Amino acid sequence: MTTQRLSAQTPADIARAARLLRAGELVAIPTETVYGLAANALDPAAVRSIFAAKGRPQDNPLIVHVPDIGAAEPLAADMPAKARELAERFWPGPLTIILKKSERIPDVVSAGLGTVALRVPAHPAALGLLRVCGLPLAAPSANLSGSPSPTTAAHVLHDFDGKIAAALDGGPCRVGVESTVVTLAAPAPTLLRPGGVAPEALRAVLGELEISSAVARALRPDEPAASPGMKYKHYAPNAELILIRGSLPDFLGCAEERQADGILVFDGDMALCSPRFPRCLSYGREDCPEEQANQLFSRLREIDALGWKRVLVRRPAPDGVGLAVYNRLLRAAAFREVDLR
Ligand code: AMP
Ligand code: MG
Repeated sequence: MTTQRLSAQTPADIARAARLLRAGELVAIPTETVYGLAANALDPAAVRSIFAAKGRPQDNPLIVHVPDIGAAEPLAADMPAKARELAERFWPGPLTIILKKSERIPDVVSAGLGTVALRVPAHPAALGLLRVCGLPLAAPSANLSGSPSPTTAAHVLHDFDGKIAAALDGGPCRVGVESTVVTLAAPAPTLLRPGGVAPEALRAVLGELEISSAVARALRPDEPAASPGMKYKHYAPNAELILIRGSLPDFLGCAEERQADGILVFDGDMALCSPRFPRCLSYGREDCPEEQANQLFSRLREIDALGWKRVLVRRPAPDGVGLAVYNRLLRAAAFREVDLR
């Protein structure tokens, strides 16, 4: 199969992407979080081909993307007042809301759960495409399952060239990590996955918000996963990553001791690091989690392109959007974390 390169700037290309999706094909699309691998959410065969292309575990449900609240409503069994408040505050945007599903949602989308994950993306090309094709789109991140999520069309083609019908290039993603996932189908509103909307912003609307135990640590083997995606090693480059908490001098000492092939630090560390450790990349300023989120997945892919095998990473502060950066890095590191303090 030849993967068509389409441009999000070109209305004819958006129309072409819509036609392919209506015909049951897979199209990678830009969103403000990461690129998504989209299919018609109402077509079980098309949705099954997402799982096959990604090598995604069958028990990991997909997020369904819609152009507005009105299009979300028929896909949920009901829309509680809190869901409406969240949607009005954060849609279009990087927030996914889990609700009881309506019977329109095929079981393959929800991986057999009685719930559905819904989101209105903020990228103009994603919104335009949703409106033109007139279908809800199931779209997980457009990466091979387990590998770092794609934040450019080049990342998508690296994983899927020749395996999907088309990739719509909308430039680099603004947020850079996946959406925040909150469930309103549990006894209390619960954050299942941190993302581009910080927990404090959700609390400002919801009042109460529980944080799933899977957010900042590994689940025990006997613990149920409220969000199936959070139980897997995930987002990981081939390199072995180790997250290090501690001062910069201690970090550098540790990198030498452990004979790291490379290090991933904050922008402000580079002047001090690069003379001692030339194999050095940075992922944004230490006090700017939005910048870290924006750069993280590109850096993880660069680490593999450079062939580094063992990489020590300065741990981000898990505050605000930083909780999402920490959550992704923890999984990318298969939960290897060392506290030097
Ligand atoms: P991705 O599509 O790669 O962004 O992953 C979607 C995330 O949303 C995964 O962590 C899923 O487990 C989670 N998710 C999707 N649908 C549901 C659902 N109905 N209940 C709980 N988690 C869900
Ligand atoms: Mg994913």
